[in-house]
Amino acid sequence: MQQFDVLIVGKGNAALCAALSAKDTGCRVAMLEAASIEESGGNSRFAGGVMRFAYDSVGDLQRLTEIPEDEAKNTDWESNTQDQFYDDLYRVTNFRTDPDLSETMITQSLEAMVWLRSQGARFVPNYRAQSAVIGGKRKFFGRMPFEISGGGPGLVQYLTDTAVKKGVDIYYETRAVSLIYDGERVLGVKAKRNGKMIEYSARAVVLACGGFEANPEWRTRYLGAGWELAKVRGTRFNVGDGLRMALEIGACPYGNWSGRHAVSWERYAPEFGDLNLPHSSYRHSYPLSIMINADGKRFVDEGIEFYNYTYAKYGAEVLKQPGQCAWQVFDAKLKELLRPEYHDKAVTRVSADTLEALADKMEGINRDAFVKTVREFNSAVRTEVPFNVAIKDGRCTVGIDPPKSNWANALDTPPFTAYAVTCGITFTFGGLRVNHETCQVLDVNFHPIPGLYTAGEMIGGLFYFNYPAGTGLVSGTVFGRIAGAGAAAAVLAA
Ligand SMILES: Cc1cc2nc3c(=O)[nH]c(=O)nc-3n(C[C@H](O)[C@H](O)[C@H](O)COP(=O)(O)OP(=O)(O)OC[C@H]3O[C@@H](n4cnc5c(N)ncnc54)[C@H](O)[C@@H]3O)c2cc1C
Repeated sequence: MQQFDVLIVGKGNAALCAALSAKDTGCRVAMLEAASIEESGGNSRFAGGVMRFAYDSVGDLQRLTEIPEDEAKNTDWESNTQDQFYDDLYRVTNFRTDPDLSETMITQSLEAMVWLRSQGARFVPNYRAQSAVIGGKRKFFGRMPFEISGGGPGLVQYLTDTAVKKGVDIYYETRAVSLIYDGERVLGVKAKRNGKMIEYSARAVVLACGGFEANPEWRTRYLGAGWELAKVRGTRFNVGDGLRMALEIGACPYGNWSGRHAVSWERYAPEFGDLNLPHSSYRHSYPLSIMINADGKRFVDEGIEFYNYTYAKYGAEVLKQPGQCAWQVFDAKLKELLRPEYHDKAVTRVSADTLEALADKMEGINRDAFVKTVREFNSAVRTEVPFNVAIKDGRCTVGIDPPKSNWANALDTPPFTAYAVTCGITFTFGGLRVNHETCQVLDVNFHPIPGLYTAGEMIGGLFYFNYPAGTGLVSGTVFGRIAGAGAAAAVLAA
């Protein structure tokens, strides 16, 4: 039997952060990754790489990367103070987020990013999707001015390189199957490797092996009927193994088990995410569109907020529509403002010079209802309010339901283009209850389970109903770091 001090299950961002923080204490650390080296890295590898952390001013951002003096001065970097971060997280979760977990994440987020940099991660300003030049000056919006250089793949690569350099053992194609548990404490993990069961003994185990988003049976069971039809945006390896293993020994489930992060996604995207085309199925420019279902009706306020605060819940709205699909419709005026992936080849899109001709090309749509909806929408736009993408501009509609609260523009300039979307699930919100100071897993009596820790998507209680963009990676870093340190501290104290 192989023996370690701290054994980490998974090899995404949370697992790597746990491994690095445990390793820095001098413990012997190993990681079990279900995927092959080529497919490893979990959802973290699919992530765009935007990071939502608390910062007051450009001075805080300069702790993460060099910013030339003139760029620092001449850019509106916005802020994401701890208070703003609390406001956003509490608002989008309907004030359900766990106070201890959210306080830990928010107050430690900036220091965690500084630590991430010290572990090899590289940050860059997110010019791609979170800023615009307004009146000659660049302005960031959405409180997320930074991303990881190279996105999720970059992050996983930086952290893997550091882990290997520091001597963390990584076992690929090794799927954890159950915990070794003597009824009192966790003593290791049984895993399947090359068709054989192997026992890995450890003085502490950190489960960081994701939610159950890639398991259609669990999705139907916990999220509800129809969720088996969602496309999976990321890895195929997160099927709820860690949650099942922990629940089997009496761990306490916690959080929004029927909740999930799910977005508008290319209608004909493959069943799982594609690492070679990581962004081509994104359809995040919908606040500039009108979204129409097969009945020719709108069904959400596309512009109620920046996409950062609605995209994670609007996937579920698309799933509810006939055929689990919808169309995002734009006219030629806004073409330049669409995110780059809208111009990719692997996109289901139709264009025409009239609304009627467009409807004829939109498979399965009620043509007359569609044309009527667009005409009503066009007449409802308050054209006297100036359009401005960098702020919630208040250019809304009046007298239609649902309204569009910002960025409303009549569709009056041909050619018109419609993009077909379905629902893509990102990750699930239900997880385990932990002690927020160590990430030790609690049992159903709320007592800590000796030897068991968790991090990342497996922690329950942080997200309910919705999610502010860029928080998954930050949560993984903050709690991965805590879990690794907590596990190592218990080992060293024994
Ligand atoms: C397309 C996409 C874009 C995203 N963009 C962003 C973004 O820009 N910013 C952001 O903050 N978040 C983003 N997210 C969300 C973010 O990726 C996740 O919240 C985060 O990566 C979760 O990290 P994790 O370490 O908990 O899980 P994961 O990274 O999914 O890691 C889980 C690991 O466990 C392994 N595993 C599973 N089961 C087993 C088992 N039985 N035994 C061994 N190993 C196992 C998996 O192979 C994987 O290595 C995005 C997600 C997707 C899918």
